[in-house]
Amino acid sequence: MRIPLSSPDITDAEIDAVVGVLRTTALSLGPRLTELETAFAAFVGTREAVAVSSGTAGLHLAVRACGIGEGDEVVTTPLSFVASANALLYERARPVFVDIEPGSLNIDPARIEGAITPRTRAILVVHLFGRPAAMPEILAIADRHGLPVIEDACEALGATVGGKRVGALGLAGVFGFYPNKTMTMGEGGLITTDDPALAELCRSLRNHGRDAGGVAHARLGFNYRLSDIACALGLAQLRRLPEMLARREALARAYHARLSGHPDLVVPAVDLPDARTGWFAYVVRLGARYGAADRDRIVDAMLRRGIGCQRYFSPLHLHPHIREVVGDREGEFPVTEAAAARTIALPFFNRLREAEIDEVCATLVELLSAQ
Ligand SMILES: *Cc1c(COP(=O)(O)O)cnc(C)c1O
Repeated sequence: MRIPLSSPDITDAEIDAVVGVLRTTALSLGPRLTELETAFAAFVGTREAVAVSSGTAGLHLAVRACGIGEGDEVVTTPLSFVASANALLYERARPVFVDIEPGSLNIDPARIEGAITPRTRAILVVHLFGRPAAMPEILAIADRHGLPVIEDACEALGATVGGKRVGALGLAGVFGFYPNKTMTMGEGGLITTDDPALAELCRSLRNHGRDAGGVAHARLGFNYRLSDIACALGLAQLRRLPEMLARREALARAYHARLSGHPDLVVPAVDLPDARTGWFAYVVRLGARYGAADRDRIVDAMLRRGIGCQRYFSPLHLHPHIREVVGDREGEFPVTEAAAARTIALPFFNRLREAEIDEVCATLVELLSAQ
């Protein structure tokens, strides 16, 4: 793609950090792991952070460490990347979907209580596209019902609610570091929590179930370790994170200045009351008079012109392997289905230039008027 959808931002600092680890023998479970966990916990504002091999691995361990298992229900959003539901399916738990708010595209707190049953074990919140979910309302509901909240913050690094960072609001938060994310380690994930016992359990589960001494296998575990090579990359990225977050916010505002007010587009809010978006992606929606076929034609035309864009995301309840678990729910989450049919994620990465934003927006507006 001439203008890609996303692109990692790697400088000499990251390259030197990685090479530095390669000159040692501590390639895994070494000093960079502890350093990264300490620095990341400090950034998010939690007591603990546990590094794992991916965001999905982090979600899986958070679910497992909460004791969620076969037949348990977890209230969650149907508009997300597939991993947030898969983490429940790995443990044979059942995702109970609740429709989204049309503005934020996040789980609608007004619908959560109606979905809670005696089998509900947790609420799994996703902060979609970096926009924080309605955490004060969701935490109040969770409190009333004695339920833990797991935050899938994989798309929301740096987002805040009431001055606190996402990932520090629920019992556990999970972040992902695939190359399209706000910050990358090539692959990787981090679980954040204020609960030291939960963190210890996750550290055991990521390393074959070993106990803290690293000798005995105390439980069934996994190999979800993150190498020190990746941790060094993460540390270098974390040092640049404030600068990267500021850059991404500036890019979102540049898009907003060009696209807000267009009668056929719904654009994400850039200013939120008492919260801040951690800009992972810039996703617009076509107006109600457009359908999925129009959206797909526009996406294909943009791609043909060398502009990277994506349909983010198809509703989870429509994926065949999830349908097998939750049954045929097509039509039950109309806000989600209507939004998912009209989304277009536009190119969004730190080195995106103003002239490229001009071109992306002009092309989109031109294609809209041709529909
Ligand atoms: C990226 C992402 C994940 C985790 O992805 P990995 O590729 O496993 O790191 C989980 N949930 C959401 C919402 C994501 O966007």
